[in-house]
Amino acid sequence: MRCPYCGSLETQVKDSRPAEDASSIRRRRVCPDCGGRFTTFERVQLRELTVVKKTGRRVPFDRDKLMRSLEIALRKRPVEPDRVDRMVNGIVRQLESLGDGDIPSEKIGELVMEGLRALDGVAYVRFASVYRNFRETRDFNMLIDELANPPEGENETPDPNSAPAEKA
Ligand SMILES: [Zn+2]
Repeated sequence: MRCPYCGSLETQVKDSRPAEDASSIRRRRVCPDCGGRFTTFERVQLRELTVVKKTGRRVPFDRDKLMRSLEIALRKRPVEPDRVDRMVNGIVRQLESLGDGDIPSEKIGELVMEGLRALDGVAYVRFASVYRNFRETRDFNMLIDELANPPEGENETPDPNSAPAEKA
């Protein structure tokens, strides 16, 4: 693994441990040439995914990029990083199980919106406003209405962290 700081190829693994849900291995590395420290993750990848943008441009799917946009949406929200990681794992598995590995970018947006909606309402609205490219307050209000009144037949996802509701 090349050192991201100085480009040396001599980096050493200092520590290696499975992530909490054992879906990845986290390795701490150090570069003997410049002393730089960084972390890498080893994950299962069932297949290569290619994102097809609206313009028709094709780019390799980038989990880190997805993670970064989620971090922006979830900034200062009380959501365990582990839950976010599991959500992303779930999204990636769903994408991998879709047809031929070519993923329309809209599909990723949809899955992220679904996941965030269950995870955190504020993050959902933040992400949606960027993803749907909101320009007017009206767009926000529509989304807030959607959140307040889930479509018919859709159950609210219970929050596993909250105590079960007590019956009076
Ligand atoms: Zn280095």
